[in-house]
Amino acid sequence: MPQSVRPYDLVIVGASFAGLVAARTAAMRGLDVAVLEAKPEAGHRVATTGILVKEAAEEIDIPHTLTRRVHGVRLYAPSRRHIDLFAPGYFFLTTDTANVLRWLAAEAMRAGAKILYRARFEGADRVDGVFRFRGLNIAARYILGADGARSAVARAFGLGTNRKFLTGLEVEFEGLAGADPRFLHCFLDSKLAPGYLGWVAPGPVVSQAGLAVGPGRRPDLKAFLAATESIFGYSNARPVERRSGRIPAGGLVHPWSAEGVMLVGDAAGQVSPATGGGIKLAFELGRRAAQVISDHLQDLGPPPARAMAADVPAFGAKKLMRFGLDLAPPNWTIDAALAVPPMRWLAQQVYFHRRNPGGVSFAEFEAKLRSEPLAGYPTASPGA
Ligand SMILES: Cc1cc2nc3c(=O)[nH]c(=O)nc-3n(C[C@H](O)[C@H](O)[C@H](O)COP(=O)(O)OP(=O)(O)OC[C@H]3O[C@@H](n4cnc5c(N)ncnc54)[C@H](O)[C@@H]3O)c2cc1C
Repeated sequence: MPQSVRPYDLVIVGASFAGLVAARTAAMRGLDVAVLEAKPEAGHRVATTGILVKEAAEEIDIPHTLTRRVHGVRLYAPSRRHIDLFAPGYFFLTTDTANVLRWLAAEAMRAGAKILYRARFEGADRVDGVFRFRGLNIAARYILGADGARSAVARAFGLGTNRKFLTGLEVEFEGLAGADPRFLHCFLDSKLAPGYLGWVAPGPVVSQAGLAVGPGRRPDLKAFLAATESIFGYSNARPVERRSGRIPAGGLVHPWSAEGVMLVGDAAGQVSPATGGGIKLAFELGRRAAQVISDHLQDLGPPPARAMAADVPAFGAKKLMRFGLDLAPPNWTIDAALAVPPMRWLAQQVYFHRRNPGGVSFAEFEAKLRSEPLAGYPTASPGA
């Protein structure tokens, strides 16, 4: 590579939730930013269910047409008895995930970032404070690794790597009429989904049905679909696409930075070990990483990792919960537990912990549904 190539201020590896939000913020703050993405476009072969918790939805204003609000959680025991959980005013957003990622990419470019597709990061060498990328004719003053659970940036710079994973697999269905759209349908079943859950999520375009399993196990999607066919009627719907991937479940990697390099999102293990949710943290910490990097490069701010340390969660309690979930208690104990009020309370805490912003009760919500149509909901609620 010629010595004269002008370095970008920041090269971000990975054009997904963390990388694209970081690129937008860094470009808006005046940095010269490029994003390297191995795939041919953002949103290609999505590997996530893409459900946003309310806090994630509040972090980034995503176009309404790309999401669907879901207000409650229907939690099924292995016997298929269920309880309905709801917190007034709280919601989840299911998403048209591929288009959310395309929209995030468009926003990053609109702010001034360049996205280089089919550009795989394969290592970089630092000479006189500038990184030169192997196999690519680019250079950078700073590298942000937002390249997911098996980060090549982490490996290239001897940073910590994720070692413990959940494995998720799901199928998208068109026309899945049996999925009551008031709920995310979650299945506790230690035989089908040991260490995690099965789920059916009614999305804005398709519905997704799948499961994830704990470390060292393989998800059996066929068995899950067969076991829940009578509830949802998959055989009357059209399967469109599959999504699968590995979810870091061991907490933060160490170290997550070196001189001129930092990891963010799944690459840094910034995923709740208990719930497997990572998009909210990818949004929040992707944006924060771009802020501290731009402060450092342009405004004599402290080293980015030091500035960021206070914002990165330690996941103490969630790691403990992961330990409990890995034990995968026998199904009969889950059946028995879900029948008693303390367990219902506990489930409510897990899904809606400190998430009761105050709003209508479930009964009021149901009454509202009956009296006035709400976008995405049938006029009479199923089973009503
Ligand atoms: C099956 C499944 C379901 C999930 N469901 C949810 C959910 O409903 N809600 C939730 O909050 N979280 C969910 N998660 C977790 C969530 O998807 C992740 O936490 C989130 O995607 C992390 O975003 P990220 O930007 O850090 O990394 P990723 O989304 O993994 O993106 C990494 C990007 O880097 C690119 N890349 C990788 N290597 C290179 C390289 N060498 N060079 C260039 N580019 C590279 C990849 O192509 C990819 O585009 C789920 C995960 C899985 C696997």
